[in-house]
Amino acid sequence: MTVDNFPAINCDGPGCTNATHAVQVRTATEVRRLRRADGWRTRPKGRDICPDCWKAGHR
Ligand SMILES: [Zn+2]
Repeated sequence: MTVDNFPAINCDGPGCTNATHAVQVRTATEVRRLRRADGWRTRPKGRDICPDCWKAGHR
């Protein structure tokens, strides 16, 4: 059985389970770079924040 492995990032907002990934890249850093255009943000200490949490002020 083959498991596709691709980098993903998970939102670190309180109680948030949002996640995103990009199949065309190899590293989480590249995912973050691509998803920044969609509103994802990376905070100090490596916390990732999704667009919903960012707008809600959960930064
Ligand atoms: Zn979130």
